[in-house]
Amino acid sequence: MTGLIRRREFLGEHELRSRYDVVIVGGGVNGLSLAFHLAEYHGISDVAVLERSYIGSGGSGRNTQVLRATYNTPETVPLYATSLAMYGDLAQELDYNVLFSTQGNLDLCHSTDTLQVEREKVLLHRHYGVQTEMLSPEQVLEVCPFVDLTAGGELPVIGASYHPAGAFARHDSVVWGYASAANRRGVEIHQGVEVIGVDVVDGSCRGVVTNQGPVAAGRVVSAVAGWSSELARMAGVRLPLQTMALQAFVTEAYTPVLWGLVSSMDLYVYTQQTARGELVVGAETLPYNTYSTRSTFDFVAEAAKRTIQLLPFMEKARLLRQWTGLCDMTPDSSPLLGESEVSNFFLMSGMGTWGFKGAPIFGKTMAEMLATGRVDPLIAPFDPGRFREDRMVPDAASAGTHR
Ligand SMILES: Cc1cc2nc3c(=O)[nH]c(=O)nc-3n(C[C@H](O)[C@H](O)[C@H](O)COP(=O)(O)OP(=O)(O)OC[C@H]3O[C@@H](n4cnc5c(N)ncnc54)[C@H](O)[C@@H]3O)c2cc1C
Repeated sequence: MTGLIRRREFLGEHELRSRYDVVIVGGGVNGLSLAFHLAEYHGISDVAVLERSYIGSGGSGRNTQVLRATYNTPETVPLYATSLAMYGDLAQELDYNVLFSTQGNLDLCHSTDTLQVEREKVLLHRHYGVQTEMLSPEQVLEVCPFVDLTAGGELPVIGASYHPAGAFARHDSVVWGYASAANRRGVEIHQGVEVIGVDVVDGSCRGVVTNQGPVAAGRVVSAVAGWSSELARMAGVRLPLQTMALQAFVTEAYTPVLWGLVSSMDLYVYTQQTARGELVVGAETLPYNTYSTRSTFDFVAEAAKRTIQLLPFMEKARLLRQWTGLCDMTPDSSPLLGESEVSNFFLMSGMGTWGFKGAPIFGKTMAEMLATGRVDPLIAPFDPGRFREDRMVPDAASAGTHR
């Protein structure tokens, strides 16, 4: 009987207090994952998440929901593989259906260069226990019979890599799942509260200034993704970030035909079908820095053309809407996870185009760092100080950046 009762959960209303143990700036999937992990696994619930708009209004509600472990370095493959495994248990952990669905990722190759890159990635993946395999063009059709192997006659498919564990999760369910689970454990989530200053004295962060007054904090965490440079600037920290726009579009809903992600490593476009039947298309970031989330016609025209080359049936699909989000891109296309040069001011930034898939492991390991000081070996390579010491984790090939 209880299975039939719909649970309605709202975030409690709270007065903004003058002090918390931890203030997390940004109510996206990463800030909320951190809040949940602090409360659930470390008993730290004197936590405020400050979100200037509504939770999930940033990249967390705008991404294309792709979860995969097929990255390209010995540091990133185990990181995202662990996160993907955590996604599999997330609904039970949060007691919230996040619509997690394992459907596989197909990465088509149209040139010998990309085929070679994919072959090398497969070897790396296998070393870390991630299942990926190379497919011939004939095997591609067994996975997805709708692919035009000539790619519109322009760039024939010569092979592919296939990652059966590739998955999706409903992005706003993940946001609300973390938020309501954190809220039930005593975390305060304040929407409509903007941080306009960071209080730093003698190289140590003491709290933030908000549009509703000052708030002291033992630790402050920046989880504002596309606005990370701005928040860091308030603390006197310069980050090596470029802010870039990433776009997507969705069609009207159709009978389910596509299962899993179909992407092209050379045409830089990917397609999937949601549980509602809409076909979602994404491509690479725009080639310039911007804080604008205005969508462009060029993107739709170009991404639609490339998608139709790969999946000709898409020619008849009707566009429903398009949108844009901001990505904070690091020089090595890997995240920034750790304490900044200002003590007690932590960065959960550099989320680029990978921050949704990483949220479970980023939240877990950053919570442990805040609670115990221990740095999990999985995130040690992503310490924000690495650029000063020339210790980069270069993974642009996995990141969907502009060519
Ligand atoms: C079109 C698109 C497709 C994508 N596809 C994927 C994908 O398939 N897989 C994947 O892993 N990633 C993807 N990404 C990237 C992913 O969406 C982001 O990396 C991720 O959502 C970042 O989450 P976050 O919680 O760190 O930040 P966000 O969700 O951006 O949240 C930051 C929040 O901070 C708030 N904020 C900003 N400044 C302040 C302030 N001064 N005071 C208070 N609040 C503030 C904002 O309002 C915002 O809600 C995609 C991104 C886009 C745009």
